[in-house]
Amino acid sequence: MDVAVIGAGISGLLSAYHLITKGVNVTIFERRDSFPRAHCTGIVSRLTLENMPYANNFVVGRYNNVAFYLGIHGKISQINIRFRGFVAYKIDRYAHEIALIQHIKDLGVSINPLSTVLEINEESAGAEVEIYDRNNATAKRQLFDKVVVAEGYPGTLSAKIGCKSFSTSLHAIQRDYVIRGALPDEHTLYVYIDPHIFGYGFAWLVPFSDGKAVIGYAGEGFPSLAIYTKVVKFFSNVVGFDVKEHTSGFYGGNVLIGYPIEFFSKKDKSICIGDAVAMVKSISGGGLYAISSTSKMLPDLVIREDRKAVNSLYNMAKELRRQYYIKKLLWETISNSIYGRIISLLTRHRTIEFEVKNLEYFDKHEKMLINILLELYKLF
Ligand SMILES: Cc1cc2nc3c(=O)[nH]c(=O)nc-3n(C[C@H](O)[C@H](O)[C@H](O)COP(=O)(O)OP(=O)(O)OC[C@H]3O[C@@H](n4cnc5c(N)ncnc54)[C@H](O)[C@@H]3O)c2cc1C
Repeated sequence: MDVAVIGAGISGLLSAYHLITKGVNVTIFERRDSFPRAHCTGIVSRLTLENMPYANNFVVGRYNNVAFYLGIHGKISQINIRFRGFVAYKIDRYAHEIALIQHIKDLGVSINPLSTVLEINEESAGAEVEIYDRNNATAKRQLFDKVVVAEGYPGTLSAKIGCKSFSTSLHAIQRDYVIRGALPDEHTLYVYIDPHIFGYGFAWLVPFSDGKAVIGYAGEGFPSLAIYTKVVKFFSNVVGFDVKEHTSGFYGGNVLIGYPIEFFSKKDKSICIGDAVAMVKSISGGGLYAISSTSKMLPDLVIREDRKAVNSLYNMAKELRRQYYIKKLLWETISNSIYGRIISLLTRHRTIEFEVKNLEYFDKHEKMLINILLELYKLF
């Protein structure tokens, strides 16, 4: 069987890995000349880490605590969630993708840079892919049995062939720093939520190896240096991180909030995966959870068209849609002047601590939130 994979981002690379290890011939088309590209923070859950081949070798931070700083009407409350074990990891995404590219090449995947896929024409015999080869400025057509569309955001080809999703896009920037003095806690993820500053987004500080930390934010408008500076000040003043110097330039991109609706093309010869169909967790803004688990299903979906795998795929869509609505409800409640004021009065100047025993709750954010709400109810 011959499969074309469109895009050499993490969705395309993982899809290629799982397909070639099941004996499928895989050809990747990537429009860029150089990849991978640094854009992502690289926070993954335990399960996601296990689902991403070779990722274990690139862990640079481990976390058992999430500290949320909630800014409502200019006042800050802190909610601390401590897990009974490490629930999240930071991986060096760039180094991991380089290793993954090498491994799949060694396994026989053909990777074609500077090759933009313009069209996918599905026929009964398979799917004909029209490629513009920027190496020699020529267009060519190639027939495949199936196509995996892993083109990222925005899903232009995906929409054309009938894959569907709902999404809005936040814009994110981040930078790596060296921290001066001792780290407040190297196993804590710091999250700052303030809908008046970030809209549906949030800011983060993630400590990692050798006294470094990445500081970033995702917001609704075009990335702003003024907001970014405010974020760095916030983490220095409120949390107590003294940043010494940056060790990287700014990097980032589109962080999606949304959910997938339809993964298969109208004529069923193609399947869409990843940011192309907003396969993202809205609450954490992460795509790797859904991408790593669904790419594993690809051989069952593409080669065998297995019913159980199809059901699992749509269950993932339901989970992501549920998260989208929970996040919307939460953010709207915080932003609402009456509810926001009530929450602010109840939590103001307080640090509320929770301990969570079930490590899966880092992935199942909605369950974690219910847990927190029940604990809050007990407190007041
Ligand atoms: C700032 C930031 C921080 C993030 N942090 C996290 C995090 O901590 N944890 C987490 O889980 N997720 C995180 N994410 C999200 C995660 O990075 C994405 O969900 C994931 O990388 C999407 O991968 P992808 O392969 O679907 O898309 P992409 O990485 O966008 O790859 C798509 C590829 O397809 C290529 N392409 C597009 N169209 C064509 C075409 N027509 N022909 C050929 N090639 C084409 C593109 O050039 C690109 O290389 C973050 C994202 C950002 C921006």
